[in-house]
Amino acid sequence: MKRWTHWLGVKSPHAADYVPSAPAQTGDLCIQYLGTAGFVISQDGHHVVLDPYVTRPDLTTSLTQPLVPNAALIQRLIPQANDVLIGHAHHDHILDGPDLCKQTGARLIGSSSTVQVGIAAGLPPEQLVSTEGREDIASGSWTVRGFPSRHGKIFGRIPFPGDLHAPPPWPARMHQLRHGLVLNWLVDTGKLKVMHIDSADFIDEELQGHRCDIVCLCAIGRQARPNYVRDVVRYLKPRWVIPCHWDTMITPIESVPDLLPGVDLPGFIEEIKAAGATPLLTPILGHQRFS
Ligand SMILES: [Zn+2]
Repeated sequence: MKRWTHWLGVKSPHAADYVPSAPAQTGDLCIQYLGTAGFVISQDGHHVVLDPYVTRPDLTTSLTQPLVPNAALIQRLIPQANDVLIGHAHHDHILDGPDLCKQTGARLIGSSSTVQVGIAAGLPPEQLVSTEGREDIASGSWTVRGFPSRHGKIFGRIPFPGDLHAPPPWPARMHQLRHGLVLNWLVDTGKLKVMHIDSADFIDEELQGHRCDIVCLCAIGRQARPNYVRDVVRYLKPRWVIPCHWDTMITPIESVPDLLPGVDLPGFIEEIKAAGATPLLTPILGHQRFS
């Protein structure tokens, strides 16, 4: 496993700096970071994708236009998916999910608001799974489970709150995608447990006692909630933490990313270490492997 501590102090991790680790062995768990809160978790030909958002429209498009998923880019960067899990239905978490499901036949799994987005995008019922969390859902031989959570505040406010009770227009404008129920996803491969926390807040009682091995953790949470890192590590006791949601998400995915204003990656890394876990800072499109 490669550690990316040499990036600390530089502007942001970039795929061009990435040195691949050893080739995957049978049974290895591979986690690829897709930027924003996106990940692909793979093992022995099974692929669970979380919050895919590789289209990354620029700022002007994001603010003024309907957001059109880049189907060719999705196909090239995420060629395989068995299930697609959505943490919440904001555009930067859900935009590419329905197209990825269309291309791969994967199920789109998330809140009732997530399912409304899937319907809007034209997914058939057999590819849509709605959950309110607290239930185990089989994904091949793995189990996935949503933990009810809450969205973080940005500048003191939760952006685009509320649920979707009907399919939004598709393609949708940013403000038409309400976050709906927020879910922290636990992916249990039978070998390792991976928790995905895609927003800047969570519900203490939901996470307490659910020990896991790896947490994919939203780096802006540290600014939004006191003791964010310390409490996540205290509740979940992970060995490793992979930072996510640290970039502006408006640069093309294969360009050098910019850090989100207010994100202090070195500070985030230090807090992870101080809490007793090992940070695995991963560039966009980079991988971590666990054998
Ligand atoms: Zn959000």
